[in-house]
Amino acid sequence: MAYGVQWLDASLYGLFGLLFGSFLNVVVYRLPKMMERQWQQDAAEMAGQEAPEQEPFNLMVPRSRCPHCTHPIAWYENIPVLSYLALGGKCAACKAPISARYPLVEAALASLFFYCIWTHGANATGYAWCAFCALLLTLALIDWDTTLLPDDLTLPLLWLGMIAAALHWIPVTLYDALWGAVAGYMSLWLVYWGFKLATGKEGMGFGDFKLFAALGAWFGWQTLIPLILIASVIGAVIGAAMKFNASLREGGYVPFGPFLAGAGFSALVLGPQALRQVMGL
Ligand SMILES: [Zn+2]
Repeated sequence: MAYGVQWLDASLYGLFGLLFGSFLNVVVYRLPKMMERQWQQDAAEMAGQEAPEQEPFNLMVPRSRCPHCTHPIAWYENIPVLSYLALGGKCAACKAPISARYPLVEAALASLFFYCIWTHGANATGYAWCAFCALLLTLALIDWDTTLLPDDLTLPLLWLGMIAAALHWIPVTLYDALWGAVAGYMSLWLVYWGFKLATGKEGMGFGDFKLFAALGAWFGWQTLIPLILIASVIGAVIGAAMKFNASLREGGYVPFGPFLAGAGFSALVLGPQALRQVMGL
């Protein structure tokens, strides 16, 4: 591939990543709330009650507002990264600070898209890894905020990995992807029950099994042990830092999904082969 074309493609998709990152912020904020509303509705139905009338709330409706003063956010206040810088990180109406996480997520997804297209080109392989990054980043943030890993995201990630393997978009055979998904799910399922029987506590959730299964599909069963070791190391470091900072939440629960996602990103950048070699596997 010509060098100029490589730059152009990667930059264009980087720009798209910036815009998509803005949408990703909306998904991270709204999807858990949408799930909660659905549960309330289901619970009311099961109890034989009339479901309470609810204002529409989805990824499109209502328009974004400042959570502090409900000032509706105009399109020019919603340009990825640039608007945040132009507004000095404050709401245009009430000057309440806007979380720096929004522009950081946009910049992170832009960098990831740039990296995927730079490395693999603007083709099915590059697009598949862009989708992998977008889903994994969304899952990590939602799990961090709410300790939920929605099926609406883990299952597409799993299926997309299988499809990418079947169509040879990624260098994993369908056989390795299938057993990666099965062994990924089963291994954490066993750890979960072992931990529960030994301590009576739940160390992780079913979403973690599905996320690990998805990583098994994308990287093959051979990469599961390096992935879980890296996730544990990242988790131990961040858990210790949070304890040191006294920033642990009530009950001291730290979700595992963001660390699994961190391991997934490490495997993407370093390559599953390198991970296995480092572990001597
Ligand atoms: Zn405001």
